[in-house]
Parts: sequence; C-alpha cells; structure tokens
Amino acid sequence: MSKPQLILLGAPGSGKGTQAKRLVSEFGFGHISTGDLLRAEIAKASELGKKVKSIMDAGELVNDQVVLELLNANCDLTNNVYIFDGFPRNGEQAALLEDFVLKGTPAKAIYFKVDFEQIIERITNRRLAPKSGEIYNLLTRKPKVDGKCDVSGEDLIHRDDDKEEVVRNRLEVFKKTIEPVLEYYKSKTQLVELDASRPADVVFEDLKKLID
Ligand code: AMP
Repeated sequence: MSKPQLILLGAPGSGKGTQAKRLVSEFGFGHISTGDLLRAEIAKASELGKKVKSIMDAGELVNDQVVLELLNANCDLTNNVYIFDGFPRNGEQAALLEDFVLKGTPAKAIYFKVDFEQIIERITNRRLAPKSGEIYNLLTRKPKVDGKCDVSGEDLIHRDDDKEEVVRNRLEVFKKTIEPVLEYYKSKTQLVELDASRPADVVFEDLKKLID
C-alpha cells in the first residue's frame, strides 16, 4: 500500500472530522472516528454505551483499553488506508495504536492547529446529522433548511458535549493530554502541522498536497 495511514490530531472543533469526511469522499480512505464509534454504542444502548455515556457527557476521556478494543474491532489494515480521527488522545494511546494496530505500517500524523477562542465559537455553533454524519455550522456552513440535514433531511442535533461548559472542559482535557502525543510523532519524524484556523477549503487543499 503506497499511501500512509493518516492520524488526524487536533482539539475538538479543529475541523478534523469535517476534513476526514472530505478525504474519504475524494480518496476512498476508511474513516475511523472513535467518538462516532462510541456515540453509536450509546445509540444502541449497548452495555459499553451505558458505561461510557456519563463520561462522554462530562467531556472526560473513556478508558484507553475500551477505546482500543472498539478501534481494533472496526479496522483491518490489510488492504485499507484509514484516517484515524480522535485516536490517539494521549501518549499511552499513541503507543497502543502503534503496538496493537499499526505494527510498523507507514503512517503520518497531521496536527490541526487552531486558536482555542475560535474553537469555542465553532463548537457551540456546530450541528450534527447523526445518520448521514454530515457536520454543519450555524455561522459558516448552514443547512439549507433550518434544523434539517441537506443530504438526508433528518433533524440536526446539538451534541450534549458541544454545549459551552462541556466544550471548555474538553479543551482543558485536550491541553493536558496532547503534548506527549505530538512528541511521540515528532520523535518518529511522522508529524506534520497544519494551520487549521483558515477556511475549510483552504485547509483541504493543503491536506491534499500532504497526501500526494
Ligand atoms: P470526539 O467526537 O472525538 O470529540 O469524542 C467525543 C468524546 O468521546 C470525547 O470527549 C471522549 O469522551 C470520547 N472519546 C473519543 N475518542 C476517545 C479516545 N481516543 N479516548 C478516550 N475517549 C475518547
């Protein structure tokens, strides 16, 4: 497989989910978002879903092993290039990803850098279509019909953990845990940084260059 696996790193609201979806539709990569996988467990009301709901509602991190198992059950690297979105979140997860999933497969980590004040504005205006996976923003990417997904027509939701108080906690958690992840990939010379405060189309053009 010539293209490396892609690991997207960035604070909640840095735009990595939106860009991941564009990369998937343009290049056909697989997309693994641990946040989406966990939300799917909650929607199914599985045992795992019941266990993680209150942790996620508070904006805290779910146990590393639990997320690793979910990740492993949902990807097969034999013939696929994946975009890892939302994993790893801390230094331990970076090592787990390498030892139990990538196992030496070439990979590139892309860090989406954005100013935190800008993030609060972005996330509190974010709306999600749970079935189609489309992501909207009331300021920069409004749905054509208020409160409805352009693609599926379903009702848009405001994630409980996208409310301002929880967003602030998620950003605190991010600040405390991301540094060792960046160091990990820097030491392996796999880290690339991207200015993600620019409009989504501009960021996407840069991403395409990084991938080619
Ligand atoms: P996200 O959609 O990536 O913002 O994730 C939403 C929530 O899911 C996070 O605030 C965590 O509670 C949980 N979560 C997602 N990915 C991970 C992970 N890699 N490790 C621990 N918790 C995670």
